[in-house]
Amino acid sequence: MKKITCIECPMGCEIDVEVCDGKVISIIGNTCPRGKLYAENEVTCPKRVLTSTVKSACGKPVPVKTDAPVKKAELFALMEKLNSITISLPAKIGDIVCLDFSDGANLIVAGNVEK
Ligand code: SF4
Repeated sequence: MKKITCIECPMGCEIDVEVCDGKVISIIGNTCPRGKLYAENEVTCPKRVLTSTVKSACGKPVPVKTDAPVKKAELFALMEKLNSITISLPAKIGDIVCLDFSDGANLIVAGNVEK
């Protein structure tokens, strides 16, 4: 039995997940379907939204994030990938930096940066 705290909303429900041979047998403690899906993913393929910065051509850092969660196991490799990206300014929130950065998630600008 694995105990998980759901982070999908501020309620923070405690969820018990029973796993056998890598398969989810039961999920108890979630109070909504989002929690069930979160718990399933957390024990089989945990994902997180990646947040970081990339360089701009003039050297200013630009905050970025993925627009969907990406595989937690790939976060370090994706951080390396960020090092090779340089964007031009100005950058506006929501601008796409890289389409399909990982697993269908795009990399987008997370904060306005002027020239
Ligand atoms: S199970 Fe539902 S209500 Fe509970 S923390 Fe997760 S999203 Fe929120």
